[in-house]
Amino acid sequence: MNLSLYNTMSRTVEAFEPLERRHVRMYCCGPTVYNFAHIGNLKTYVFEDILRRTLEAAGYRVTHVMNVTDVGHLTDDGDEGEDKMVKSSKEKGLDVHEIARMYTDAFFHDTDALNILRPHVACRATEHIEDMIALIKRLEAKGHTYVAGGNVYFSIDTFPDYGKLAKLNLEELKSGARIDVDENKRNPKDFALWFTKSKFENQVMVWDSPWGVGYPGWHIECSAMSMKYLGESFDIHCGGIDHIPVHHTNEIAQSEAATGKPWVKYWVHGEFLINETGKISKSKGEFLTLSVLQEKGFDPMDFRFFCLGGHYRSQLVFSWESMDAARNGRRNLVRQVRALKEQAAASSVLCAEAQSYVDEFSGHLGNDLNAPRGLATLWSLLKDNSIKPGDKLGALYRMDGILGLGLDSPEQEKEEETAIPHQILALVEERLKAKREKNYHRADELRAIVEKAGYKLTDTPGTTQVSKTL
Ligand code: AMP
Ligand code: ZN
Repeated sequence: MNLSLYNTMSRTVEAFEPLERRHVRMYCCGPTVYNFAHIGNLKTYVFEDILRRTLEAAGYRVTHVMNVTDVGHLTDDGDEGEDKMVKSSKEKGLDVHEIARMYTDAFFHDTDALNILRPHVACRATEHIEDMIALIKRLEAKGHTYVAGGNVYFSIDTFPDYGKLAKLNLEELKSGARIDVDENKRNPKDFALWFTKSKFENQVMVWDSPWGVGYPGWHIECSAMSMKYLGESFDIHCGGIDHIPVHHTNEIAQSEAATGKPWVKYWVHGEFLINETGKISKSKGEFLTLSVLQEKGFDPMDFRFFCLGGHYRSQLVFSWESMDAARNGRRNLVRQVRALKEQAAASSVLCAEAQSYVDEFSGHLGNDLNAPRGLATLWSLLKDNSIKPGDKLGALYRMDGILGLGLDSPEQEKEEETAIPHQILALVEERLKAKREKNYHRADELRAIVEKAGYKLTDTPGTTQVSKTL
Protein backbone atom coordinates (compact mmCIF):
# COMPACT_ATOMS: atom_id res chain seq x y z
CA MET A 1 0.00 0.00 0.00
CA ASN A 2 1.33 3.45 -0.89
CA LEU A 3 0.86 5.91 1.92
CA SER A 4 0.75 9.68 1.87
CA LEU A 5 -0.15 12.00 4.73
CA TYR A 6 -0.89 15.68 5.09
CA ASN A 7 1.94 17.21 7.07
CA THR A 8 0.89 20.34 8.97
CA MET A 9 4.52 21.50 8.87
CA SER A 10 4.62 21.71 5.05
CA ARG A 11 0.86 22.19 4.56
CA THR A 12 1.00 19.54 1.82
CA VAL A 13 0.22 15.87 1.39
CA GLU A 14 3.59 14.10 1.40
CA ALA A 15 4.64 10.54 0.51
CA PHE A 16 5.22 8.75 3.79
CA GLU A 17 8.73 7.44 4.41
CA PRO A 18 9.68 6.58 7.98
CA LEU A 19 13.10 7.41 9.41
CA GLU A 20 13.79 3.74 10.10
CA ARG A 21 12.95 1.09 7.47
CA ARG A 22 9.58 -0.65 8.08
CA HIS A 23 9.27 0.81 11.60
CA VAL A 24 7.08 3.79 12.46
CA ARG A 25 7.45 5.68 15.72
CA MET A 26 4.31 7.61 16.54
CA TYR A 27 3.38 9.86 19.47
CA CYS A 28 -0.15 11.02 20.27
CA CYS A 29 -0.98 13.66 22.86
CA GLY A 30 -3.18 11.91 25.39
CA PRO A 31 -5.88 12.92 27.85
CA THR A 32 -5.68 15.19 30.85
CA VAL A 33 -7.36 13.00 33.40
CA TYR A 34 -9.42 15.45 35.41
CA ASN A 35 -12.74 14.60 33.77
CA PHE A 36 -14.28 12.19 31.26
CA ALA A 37 -13.18 12.46 27.64
CA HIS A 38 -15.85 14.21 25.57
CA ILE A 39 -16.84 12.89 22.17
CA GLY A 40 -14.70 15.57 20.46
CA ASN A 41 -11.61 14.15 22.17
CA LEU A 42 -12.74 10.68 21.17
CA LYS A 43 -13.05 11.70 17.49
CA THR A 44 -9.35 12.56 17.61
CA TYR A 45 -8.43 9.20 19.16
CA VAL A 46 -10.53 7.40 16.51
CA PHE A 47 -8.62 9.18 13.73
CA GLU A 48 -5.29 8.31 15.36
CA ASP A 49 -6.43 4.69 15.55
CA ILE A 50 -7.27 4.71 11.82
CA LEU A 51 -3.78 6.09 11.17
CA ARG A 52 -2.14 3.36 13.24
CA ARG A 53 -4.22 0.59 11.64
CA THR A 54 -3.46 1.96 8.16
CA LEU A 55 0.27 1.96 8.93
CA GLU A 56 0.04 -1.61 10.16
CA ALA A 57 -1.99 -2.68 7.12
CA ALA A 58 0.76 -1.11 4.98
CA GLY A 59 3.19 -3.54 6.61
CA TYR A 60 4.92 -1.25 9.10
CA ARG A 61 5.71 -2.17 12.66
CA VAL A 62 4.32 0.70 14.72
CA THR A 63 5.46 1.87 18.13
CA HIS A 64 2.64 4.00 19.46
CA VAL A 65 3.23 6.13 22.55
CA MET A 66 0.68 8.29 24.34
CA ASN A 67 0.98 10.40 27.47
CA VAL A 68 -1.53 10.55 30.29
CA THR A 69 -1.46 14.00 31.88
CA ASP A 70 -2.05 13.26 35.52
CA VAL A 71 -0.12 16.30 36.72
CA GLY A 72 -2.29 19.37 36.93
CA HIS A 73 -2.14 21.77 34.07
CA LEU A 74 -3.88 25.04 33.71
CA THR A 75 -7.27 25.75 32.19
CA ASP A 76 -5.54 27.92 29.58
CA ASP A 77 -2.75 26.63 27.30
CA GLY A 78 -0.83 29.87 27.75
CA ASP A 79 -0.01 29.37 31.47
CA GLU A 80 -3.10 31.20 32.71
CA GLY A 81 -6.13 30.08 34.70
CA GLU A 82 -6.72 27.51 37.39
CA ASP A 83 -5.16 24.09 37.80
CA LYS A 84 -7.58 21.61 36.17
CA MET A 85 -6.76 18.67 38.45
CA VAL A 86 -7.03 20.70 41.64
CA LYS A 87 -10.29 22.27 40.47
CA SER A 88 -11.79 18.87 39.70
CA SER A 89 -10.58 17.38 42.98
CA LYS A 90 -12.25 20.21 44.91
CA GLU A 91 -15.49 19.83 42.97
CA LYS A 92 -15.65 16.05 43.45
CA GLY A 93 -14.27 15.99 46.98
CA LEU A 94 -11.62 13.45 45.98
CA ASP A 95 -7.87 13.43 46.30
CA VAL A 96 -6.06 14.45 43.06
CA HIS A 97 -4.49 10.99 42.77
CA GLU A 98 -7.91 9.35 42.99
CA ILE A 99 -9.22 11.77 40.36
CA ALA A 100 -6.36 10.86 38.04
CA ARG A 101 -6.84 7.11 38.55
CA MET A 102 -10.60 7.25 38.10
CA TYR A 103 -10.49 9.24 34.86
CA THR A 104 -7.56 7.28 33.42
CA ASP A 105 -9.63 4.09 33.86
CA ALA A 106 -12.68 5.81 32.39
CA PHE A 107 -10.61 6.95 29.40
CA PHE A 108 -9.39 3.46 28.53
CA HIS A 109 -12.85 2.06 29.14
CA ASP A 110 -14.16 4.45 26.45
CA THR A 111 -11.35 3.82 23.97
CA ASP A 112 -11.72 0.03 24.40
CA ALA A 113 -15.45 0.33 23.75
CA LEU A 114 -14.60 2.20 20.54
CA ASN A 115 -12.21 -0.59 19.50
CA ILE A 116 -9.28 1.85 19.59
CA LEU A 117 -6.03 -0.10 19.88
CA ARG A 118 -4.20 0.65 23.09
CA PRO A 119 -0.86 2.44 22.72
CA HIS A 120 2.20 0.25 23.24
CA VAL A 121 3.32 2.72 25.89
CA ALA A 122 0.83 4.85 27.84
CA CYS A 123 3.06 6.94 30.07
CA ARG A 124 1.91 8.89 33.08
CA ALA A 125 3.42 12.32 33.60
CA THR A 126 3.76 11.75 37.36
CA GLU A 127 6.09 8.82 36.69
CA HIS A 128 8.42 10.86 34.46
CA ILE A 129 9.20 13.97 36.49
CA GLU A 130 12.92 13.08 36.53
CA ASP A 131 12.97 12.94 32.71
CA MET A 132 11.34 16.37 32.54
CA ILE A 133 13.82 17.85 35.02
CA ALA A 134 16.71 16.38 32.99
CA LEU A 135 15.35 18.00 29.83
CA ILE A 136 14.90 21.38 31.51
CA LYS A 137 18.50 21.13 32.78
CA ARG A 138 19.65 20.45 29.23
CA LEU A 139 17.83 23.55 28.03
CA GLU A 140 19.24 25.56 30.91
CA ALA A 141 22.79 24.47 30.08
CA LYS A 142 22.29 25.69 26.50
CA GLY A 143 20.99 29.09 27.61
CA HIS A 144 17.35 28.67 26.57
CA THR A 145 15.80 29.33 29.98
CA TYR A 146 15.54 31.99 32.66
CA VAL A 147 14.13 32.05 36.16
CA ALA A 148 11.65 34.76 37.12
CA GLY A 149 9.27 34.99 40.06
CA GLY A 150 10.32 31.48 41.10
CA ASN A 151 9.38 29.84 37.78
CA VAL A 152 11.60 28.57 34.99
CA TYR A 153 10.66 29.86 31.56
CA PHE A 154 11.66 28.94 28.04
CA SER A 155 12.88 32.01 26.20
CA ILE A 156 11.46 31.81 22.67
CA ASP A 157 13.89 34.50 21.47
CA THR A 158 16.68 31.91 21.83
CA PHE A 159 14.98 29.63 19.27
CA PRO A 160 14.81 31.39 15.89
CA ASP A 161 12.45 28.76 14.40
CA TYR A 162 9.80 29.42 17.06
CA GLY A 163 6.29 29.22 15.61
CA LYS A 164 7.24 27.41 12.37
CA LEU A 165 4.46 24.82 12.72
CA ALA A 166 1.70 27.35 13.22
CA LYS A 167 3.38 29.88 10.89
CA LEU A 168 3.08 32.42 13.67
CA ASN A 169 3.97 35.99 12.91
CA LEU A 170 5.87 36.86 16.06
CA GLU A 171 6.06 40.58 15.45
CA GLU A 172 2.28 40.76 15.03
CA LEU A 173 1.80 38.63 18.11
CA LYS A 174 4.06 40.85 20.18
CA SER A 175 2.25 44.02 19.25
CA GLY A 176 -1.17 42.41 19.76
CA ALA A 177 -0.25 40.68 23.02
CA ARG A 178 -2.65 40.95 25.91
CA ILE A 179 -1.60 43.16 28.76
CA ASP A 180 -2.62 40.79 31.52
CA VAL A 181 -0.01 38.12 30.72
CA ASP A 182 2.33 36.77 33.37
CA GLU A 183 4.60 39.72 34.09
CA ASN A 184 7.55 37.41 34.76
CA LYS A 185 7.75 36.69 31.06
CA ARG A 186 10.29 38.55 28.95
CA ASN A 187 8.31 37.74 25.83
CA PRO A 188 4.54 37.11 26.13
CA LYS A 189 5.00 33.86 24.18
CA ASP A 190 7.61 32.49 26.61
CA PHE A 191 6.22 29.57 28.53
CA ALA A 192 6.80 27.89 31.86
CA LEU A 193 8.92 24.75 32.07
CA TRP A 194 8.73 24.51 35.83
CA PHE A 195 6.44 26.21 38.32
CA THR A 196 7.46 26.55 41.94
CA LYS A 197 5.24 27.03 44.93
CA SER A 198 6.12 30.71 44.85
CA LYS A 199 3.45 31.15 42.21
CA PHE A 200 0.86 28.52 43.16
CA GLU A 201 0.29 27.92 46.84
CA ASN A 202 -1.13 24.69 48.25
CA GLN A 203 -0.31 22.48 45.28
CA VAL A 204 -0.70 18.83 46.26
CA MET A 205 1.32 17.36 43.43
CA VAL A 206 4.80 18.83 43.85
CA TRP A 207 8.32 17.51 43.44
CA ASP A 208 11.82 18.58 44.38
CA SER A 209 13.82 20.17 41.60
CA PRO A 210 17.00 22.23 41.19
CA TRP A 211 14.70 25.30 41.00
CA GLY A 212 12.67 24.55 44.10
CA VAL A 213 9.67 22.46 45.03
CA GLY A 214 7.08 22.67 42.32
CA TYR A 215 5.70 20.99 39.24
CA PRO A 216 6.39 20.88 35.51
CA GLY A 217 4.70 22.87 32.78
CA TRP A 218 2.42 20.87 30.52
CA HIS A 219 4.42 21.10 27.28
CA ILE A 220 7.67 19.70 28.70
CA GLU A 221 5.84 16.49 29.56
CA CYS A 222 5.26 15.52 25.93
CA SER A 223 8.80 16.40 24.83
CA ALA A 224 10.41 14.42 27.65
CA MET A 225 8.24 11.33 27.39
CA SER A 226 8.11 11.09 23.60
CA MET A 227 11.90 11.31 23.33
CA LYS A 228 12.37 8.80 26.14
CA TYR A 229 10.36 6.12 24.33
CA LEU A 230 10.81 7.06 20.67
CA GLY A 231 14.25 8.68 20.45
CA GLU A 232 15.30 12.26 19.74
CA SER A 233 13.84 12.20 16.22
CA PHE A 234 10.76 10.21 15.28
CA ASP A 235 8.16 9.91 12.56
CA ILE A 236 4.69 11.05 13.53
CA HIS A 237 3.20 13.35 16.13
CA CYS A 238 -0.59 13.62 16.28
CA GLY A 239 -3.26 15.60 18.04
CA GLY A 240 -6.23 17.84 17.42
CA ILE A 241 -5.78 21.13 15.52
CA ASP A 242 -6.15 23.18 18.71
CA HIS A 243 -2.67 22.02 19.72
CA ILE A 244 -0.90 23.60 16.72
CA PRO A 245 -0.40 27.20 17.90
CA VAL A 246 0.64 26.66 21.52
CA HIS A 247 1.20 23.10 22.74
CA HIS A 248 2.90 21.62 19.69
CA THR A 249 4.66 24.88 18.91
CA ASN A 250 6.18 24.85 22.40
CA GLU A 251 6.98 21.14 22.26
CA ILE A 252 8.99 21.72 19.06
CA ALA A 253 10.88 24.65 20.58
CA GLN A 254 11.90 22.72 23.69
CA SER A 255 12.80 19.50 21.90
CA GLU A 256 14.77 20.98 19.01
CA ALA A 257 16.50 23.55 21.22
CA ALA A 258 17.64 20.73 23.52
CA THR A 259 18.85 18.28 20.87
CA GLY A 260 19.77 20.59 18.00
CA LYS A 261 18.10 18.04 15.67
CA PRO A 262 14.85 18.01 13.69
CA TRP A 263 12.36 16.41 16.06
CA VAL A 264 9.26 15.11 14.23
CA LYS A 265 9.00 14.29 10.53
CA TYR A 266 5.20 14.34 10.06
CA TRP A 267 2.74 16.44 12.06
CA VAL A 268 -0.74 15.02 11.64
CA HIS A 269 -3.70 16.94 13.08
CA GLY A 270 -7.38 16.09 13.20
CA GLU A 271 -10.10 18.72 12.77
CA PHE A 272 -12.70 19.33 15.42
CA LEU A 273 -16.01 17.76 16.19
CA ILE A 274 -18.44 20.64 16.52
CA ASN A 275 -22.13 21.08 17.18
CA GLU A 276 -24.57 23.87 16.50
CA THR A 277 -23.09 25.93 19.36
CA GLY A 278 -19.57 25.60 17.92
CA LYS A 279 -16.67 23.63 19.36
CA ILE A 280 -17.52 20.71 21.62
CA SER A 281 -15.68 21.22 24.87
CA LYS A 282 -15.80 20.21 28.50
CA SER A 283 -17.11 23.56 29.61
CA LYS A 284 -19.61 24.39 26.87
CA GLY A 285 -23.26 23.31 26.87
CA GLU A 286 -24.21 19.66 27.33
CA PHE A 287 -21.13 17.62 28.22
CA LEU A 288 -21.27 14.90 25.60
CA THR A 289 -19.47 11.72 26.59
CA LEU A 290 -19.64 8.19 25.26
CA SER A 291 -21.85 7.25 28.24
CA VAL A 292 -24.33 9.97 27.29
CA LEU A 293 -24.56 8.44 23.81
CA GLN A 294 -25.00 4.99 25.33
CA GLU A 295 -27.72 6.24 27.66
CA LYS A 296 -29.54 7.47 24.57
CA GLY A 297 -29.38 3.96 23.15
CA PHE A 298 -26.37 4.24 20.84
CA ASP A 299 -23.68 1.63 20.64
CA PRO A 300 -20.10 2.99 20.89
CA MET A 301 -19.54 1.55 17.42
CA ASP A 302 -22.26 3.88 16.08
CA PHE A 303 -20.03 6.75 17.13
CA ARG A 304 -17.00 5.15 15.50
CA PHE A 305 -19.04 4.67 12.31
CA PHE A 306 -20.17 8.30 12.52
CA CYS A 307 -16.53 9.48 12.74
CA LEU A 308 -15.54 7.35 9.73
CA GLY A 309 -18.14 9.17 7.65
CA GLY A 310 -16.04 12.36 7.69
CA HIS A 311 -12.44 12.98 6.62
CA TYR A 312 -10.20 13.51 9.64
CA ARG A 313 -9.13 16.91 8.29
CA SER A 314 -12.72 18.15 7.97
CA GLN A 315 -14.86 19.45 10.76
CA LEU A 316 -17.52 16.95 11.71
CA VAL A 317 -20.87 18.30 12.87
CA PHE A 318 -22.51 16.36 15.65
CA SER A 319 -26.30 16.09 15.91
CA TRP A 320 -28.65 13.43 17.21
CA GLU A 321 -30.07 13.09 13.69
CA SER A 322 -26.64 12.29 12.27
CA MET A 323 -26.07 9.79 15.09
CA ASP A 324 -29.39 8.15 14.14
CA ALA A 325 -28.24 8.00 10.52
CA ALA A 326 -24.91 6.46 11.61
CA ARG A 327 -26.70 3.86 13.69
CA ASN A 328 -28.99 2.94 10.78
CA GLY A 329 -26.04 2.74 8.42
CA ARG A 330 -24.04 0.53 10.73
CA ARG A 331 -26.99 -1.74 11.48
CA ASN A 332 -27.58 -2.15 7.78
CA LEU A 333 -23.93 -3.13 7.39
CA VAL A 334 -24.05 -5.58 10.30
CA ARG A 335 -27.22 -7.14 8.89
CA GLN A 336 -25.63 -7.65 5.48
CA VAL A 337 -22.50 -9.11 7.03
CA ARG A 338 -24.64 -11.51 9.06
CA ALA A 339 -26.48 -12.65 5.92
CA LEU A 340 -23.13 -13.30 4.22
CA LYS A 341 -21.91 -15.27 7.25
CA GLU A 342 -24.95 -17.48 7.00
CA GLN A 343 -24.08 -18.28 3.41
CA ALA A 344 -20.34 -18.91 3.54
CA ALA A 345 -17.12 -18.74 5.49
CA ALA A 346 -14.74 -15.89 4.68
CA SER A 347 -12.29 -16.81 1.89
CA SER A 348 -8.66 -16.49 2.85
CA VAL A 349 -7.60 -16.13 -0.78
CA LEU A 350 -9.74 -13.62 -2.65
CA CYS A 351 -10.88 -13.74 -6.26
CA ALA A 352 -9.38 -10.99 -8.42
CA GLU A 353 -12.57 -8.88 -8.36
CA ALA A 354 -12.86 -8.92 -4.58
CA GLN A 355 -9.15 -8.16 -4.30
CA SER A 356 -9.57 -5.16 -6.57
CA TYR A 357 -12.15 -3.72 -4.14
CA VAL A 358 -9.66 -4.22 -1.30
CA ASP A 359 -6.97 -2.49 -3.37
CA GLU A 360 -9.29 0.41 -4.13
CA PHE A 361 -10.14 0.68 -0.43
CA SER A 362 -6.43 0.62 0.51
CA GLY A 363 -5.78 3.30 -2.09
CA HIS A 364 -8.30 5.59 -0.39
CA LEU A 365 -7.00 5.00 3.12
CA GLY A 366 -3.41 5.27 1.91
CA ASN A 367 -4.27 8.64 0.37
CA ASP A 368 -4.23 10.72 3.55
CA LEU A 369 -6.67 8.39 5.36
CA ASN A 370 -9.72 8.97 3.22
CA ALA A 371 -12.10 6.83 5.29
CA PRO A 372 -15.35 8.20 3.74
CA ARG A 373 -14.22 7.09 0.27
CA GLY A 374 -13.08 3.79 1.77
CA LEU A 375 -16.59 3.28 3.14
CA ALA A 376 -18.07 4.09 -0.26
CA THR A 377 -15.92 1.31 -1.75
CA LEU A 378 -17.14 -1.05 0.95
CA TRP A 379 -20.78 -0.32 0.04
CA SER A 380 -20.02 -0.87 -3.66
CA LEU A 381 -18.51 -4.24 -2.82
CA LEU A 382 -21.62 -5.21 -0.86
CA LYS A 383 -23.83 -4.31 -3.83
CA ASP A 384 -21.75 -6.25 -6.36
CA ASN A 385 -23.69 -9.45 -7.08
CA SER A 386 -20.91 -10.88 -9.21
CA ILE A 387 -18.82 -11.59 -6.09
CA LYS A 388 -19.44 -14.77 -4.09
CA PRO A 389 -20.37 -14.42 -0.38
CA GLY A 390 -17.11 -15.99 0.89
CA ASP A 391 -14.99 -13.60 -1.17
CA LYS A 392 -17.14 -10.65 -0.16
CA LEU A 393 -16.77 -11.53 3.48
CA GLY A 394 -13.01 -12.05 3.17
CA ALA A 395 -12.69 -8.63 1.49
CA LEU A 396 -14.89 -6.97 4.12
CA TYR A 397 -12.80 -8.36 6.95
CA ARG A 398 -9.63 -7.02 5.33
CA MET A 399 -11.20 -3.56 5.08
CA ASP A 400 -12.40 -3.81 8.64
CA GLY A 401 -8.81 -4.38 9.78
CA ILE A 402 -8.52 -0.61 9.24
CA LEU A 403 -12.08 0.54 9.91
CA GLY A 404 -12.13 -1.34 13.22
CA LEU A 405 -15.90 -1.86 13.30
CA GLY A 406 -15.51 -5.39 14.66
CA LEU A 407 -17.50 -6.91 11.79
CA ASP A 408 -16.16 -10.39 12.43
CA SER A 409 -17.11 -10.31 16.10
CA PRO A 410 -20.05 -12.49 17.20
CA GLU A 411 -21.22 -9.70 19.55
CA GLN A 412 -22.30 -7.64 16.55
CA GLU A 413 -24.89 -10.31 15.79
CA LYS A 414 -26.53 -10.17 19.17
CA GLU A 415 -26.52 -6.41 19.19
CA GLU A 416 -29.72 -5.78 17.27
CA GLU A 417 -31.74 -8.01 19.54
CA THR A 418 -30.41 -6.23 22.64
CA ALA A 419 -31.04 -2.70 21.34
CA ILE A 420 -33.24 -0.80 23.81
CA PRO A 421 -36.46 0.61 22.30
CA HIS A 422 -36.91 4.37 22.26
CA GLN A 423 -40.00 4.26 24.51
CA ILE A 424 -37.98 2.56 27.25
CA LEU A 425 -35.14 5.05 26.89
CA ALA A 426 -37.62 7.91 27.17
CA LEU A 427 -38.90 6.44 30.45
CA VAL A 428 -35.35 6.07 31.76
CA GLU A 429 -34.66 9.67 30.84
CA GLU A 430 -37.84 10.80 32.61
CA ARG A 431 -36.84 8.82 35.71
CA LEU A 432 -33.41 10.48 35.76
CA LYS A 433 -35.12 13.85 35.57
CA ALA A 434 -37.48 12.92 38.42
CA LYS A 435 -34.47 11.86 40.51
CA ARG A 436 -32.66 15.10 39.79
CA GLU A 437 -35.78 16.96 40.94
CA LYS A 438 -35.87 14.73 44.05
CA ASN A 439 -39.28 13.37 43.02
CA TYR A 440 -38.40 9.89 44.25
CA HIS A 441 -41.99 8.64 44.23
CA ARG A 442 -42.28 9.29 40.49
CA ALA A 443 -38.80 7.84 39.93
CA ASP A 444 -39.86 4.59 41.65
CA GLU A 445 -43.05 4.40 39.61
CA LEU A 446 -41.04 4.77 36.41
CA ARG A 447 -38.55 2.13 37.53
CA ALA A 448 -41.44 -0.29 38.11
CA ILE A 449 -42.84 0.39 34.62
CA VAL A 450 -39.45 -0.17 32.97
CA GLU A 451 -38.82 -3.37 34.94
CA LYS A 452 -42.24 -4.72 34.11
CA ALA A 453 -41.44 -4.22 30.43
CA GLY A 454 -38.45 -6.56 30.90
CA TYR A 455 -35.55 -4.15 31.44
CA LYS A 456 -33.11 -3.84 34.31
CA LEU A 457 -31.86 -0.48 35.64
CA THR A 458 -28.48 -0.06 37.29
CA ASP A 459 -27.77 3.31 38.88
CA THR A 460 -24.20 4.62 38.79
CA PRO A 461 -23.18 8.10 40.01
CA GLY A 462 -24.97 10.62 37.80
CA THR A 463 -26.31 8.12 35.28
CA THR A 464 -28.31 4.92 34.81
CA GLN A 465 -27.50 1.87 32.67
CA VAL A 466 -30.40 -0.01 31.14
CA SER A 467 -30.23 -3.60 29.94
CA LYS A 468 -32.64 -6.32 28.90
CA THR A 469 -33.51 -8.72 31.71
CA LEU A 470 -32.16 -12.14 30.76
P1 AMP B 1 -7.18 17.45 25.83
O1 AMP B 1 -7.55 16.40 26.87
O2 AMP B 1 -7.96 18.71 25.93
O3 AMP B 1 -5.70 17.68 25.74
O4 AMP B 1 -7.64 16.84 24.43
C1 AMP B 1 -7.30 15.54 24.01
C2 AMP B 1 -7.30 15.48 22.49
O5 AMP B 1 -8.59 15.83 21.95
C3 AMP B 1 -6.31 16.47 21.87
O6 AMP B 1 -5.66 15.85 20.77
C4 AMP B 1 -7.21 17.62 21.41
O7 AMP B 1 -6.63 18.31 20.33
C5 AMP B 1 -8.46 16.87 20.99
N1 AMP B 1 -9.71 17.66 21.01
C6 AMP B 1 -10.15 18.54 21.96
N2 AMP B 1 -11.38 19.02 21.64
C7 AMP B 1 -11.73 18.43 20.46
C8 AMP B 1 -12.89 18.50 19.59
N3 AMP B 1 -13.95 19.24 19.89
N4 AMP B 1 -12.89 17.74 18.47
C9 AMP B 1 -11.84 16.94 18.16
N5 AMP B 1 -10.73 16.83 18.93
C10 AMP B 1 -10.67 17.55 20.07
ZN1 ZN C 1 1.31 16.82 23.91
